[in-house]
Amino acid sequence: MTVKPRVLYWFRTDLRLHDSPGLKAALDLYPEVLYPIWTWDPQYVYNTRVGPNRWQFLIDCQNDLSTNITKLNSKSKLFVLREAPQTVLPKLFKAWRITHLVFEKDTDAYARDRDHEVTNLAKKAGITIICRQGRNLYDPDELVDINGGPTMTIAQVQSAAKKLPAVPRPLPAPLSLPDPGDTSFEIDHSLPEPLLDRNAGYRNSKDSSYMSIAGPNGDFAVPTLKELGITPATTPHRGGESIALKNLADLISDPNYIATFSKPESAPTAFSPQSTTLLSPHLHFGSLSIRKFYWDTEDTIVSFSKRHKGKATVPPTNLTGQLLFRDMYFGAQASLGHKFGRMLDNPKCRFIPWHLPSIYDDKTAYPTKYSIDSVEADIWFKRWQSGTTGFPWIDGLMRQLRTEGWIHHLGRHAVACFLTRGGCYIDWERGAEVFEMWLLDHEVACNAGNWQWLSATAFFSQYFRIYSPITFPAKWDKNGDFVRKYVPELGKYPAKYIYEPWKAPIADQKSWGCVIKGDGLDSDVNGLDIKVYPKPMFDFSERRKICLDAMKKAYSVHIFGDNPEVKDGSWQEL
Ligand code: FAD
Repeated sequence: MTVKPRVLYWFRTDLRLHDSPGLKAALDLYPEVLYPIWTWDPQYVYNTRVGPNRWQFLIDCQNDLSTNITKLNSKSKLFVLREAPQTVLPKLFKAWRITHLVFEKDTDAYARDRDHEVTNLAKKAGITIICRQGRNLYDPDELVDINGGPTMTIAQVQSAAKKLPAVPRPLPAPLSLPDPGDTSFEIDHSLPEPLLDRNAGYRNSKDSSYMSIAGPNGDFAVPTLKELGITPATTPHRGGESIALKNLADLISDPNYIATFSKPESAPTAFSPQSTTLLSPHLHFGSLSIRKFYWDTEDTIVSFSKRHKGKATVPPTNLTGQLLFRDMYFGAQASLGHKFGRMLDNPKCRFIPWHLPSIYDDKTAYPTKYSIDSVEADIWFKRWQSGTTGFPWIDGLMRQLRTEGWIHHLGRHAVACFLTRGGCYIDWERGAEVFEMWLLDHEVACNAGNWQWLSATAFFSQYFRIYSPITFPAKWDKNGDFVRKYVPELGKYPAKYIYEPWKAPIADQKSWGCVIKGDGLDSDVNGLDIKVYPKPMFDFSERRKICLDAMKKAYSVHIFGDNPEVKDGSWQEL
């Protein structure tokens, strides 16, 4: 007698029902039961480096998905399992008599290790694994194969893409879902303590029901921030497939915006609304399918072009071109694996002897060629992170990032260039860690890749093109409205001083209700009616010159593509 498939559908990077090749493969098995699950993978949410805003977005996505699953089958929902997949899945295979495990392909370095482990465990348990690509326009591994190595330029992506099948058209969402089976099972407390997320606070709990895989109420419910002991989110941007599809539809309803989109001409100072799509967090969590984004956009461009010859923008600056950048970084990571996210041993990342702030005390992990003596770099790093550099444009962006979890691409350029080769000369990896904590859209490949680009250590080599924190924002926003919103203490400053408030006469500073003094690390308000905004932490023109000279020297010494300095210890003379 043939056994009807009993399927675990493991949601990870695809918190949606529309255009899910993995879910379609699961449904094509005509299963007897289908359990839609999400496992509490400590690494998936990056353990300690995830702020409340990204937690909130994830929970939003889970709640929306769960509701949409229940609409298709009132007995079903998203079953959230509070344990790491490596330990919980073998328990479920047995307890729920699973025959198939189905999921979307994930080429992140950690995910590959995890999936390798899970696949071995599944094989041992006699479970069939089905894995489908749906996270990128092109399968990153195929992109790398055709390119003959990591994709480091957009031209390489475009040329490889020509040799690959066209991006598949999106699949419709299913109209119904099978029942889940019985979800009860015994928890064997004699097994090793599961790998629970440290943020979640479960480890300290004495209450054994808290340790349960099914959550405090034993019902596999989506957690709340409160349950997790995480402070409330501050972002106005909310997650979930329903919002993602609505936001995409709203954008598509304006063909002129879609078809004439040009990234370099989109204002980084724009807010309410921002000048780009802000769909990146949805792509990160998979609440929006990238293939739907691509085809809805491409169809709009084609139809617009028929009506307005020559007016539509083209890749890579147009909207579909932006998606190719995403694929480029995924291709680079798929090929370089764990090495991609760091400078050490990364064959494609140029070594630069950055300052290493001392708060990162594990100096043994770094070559001694770093200029680790810089006490100033410590202070600069803290001021950059807390939005108190004394440069209102940089501070506004960092405060927007911390409170809202998203900043415009050119805003990211500005703060990343400032921290690295265009101001502080601090290691890009330190900046990438801050982004990892605060971005809603944090994507291992895109974050590391873009930081390498901005620090001119890979992908981009024009290190002499440095963003000014004064003239660059003024090109977009003469009045400084962006600064007035995110650095409200400067709200009464006239446009003339908005990007250089330290130049204003002290009497005027007082009359505008904010004086420029101190380093901003202690407090931003002096307890009286007059507020305080910090002095700039350095003379920008001076630092720009120092950075330029240092980069020039580093470029002249380093043989790009092999990183010999890291290995042979010959960097000291710099
Ligand atoms: P749009 O301009 O509307 O573009 C549409 C989509 O294209 C985006 O949603 C995104 O998925 C993709 N895209 C656009 N530009 C890029 C790019 N340069 N690299 C990769 N994908 C791109 N993007 C992330 O998704 N996650 C990150 O962790 C991330 N970290 C970054 C760090 C730095 C230092 C910099 C400079 C950029 C980073 N980016 C990252 C890329 C880019 O800034 C964001 O993708 C973009 O700003 C998201 O806003 P949007 O959805 O409005 O983009």
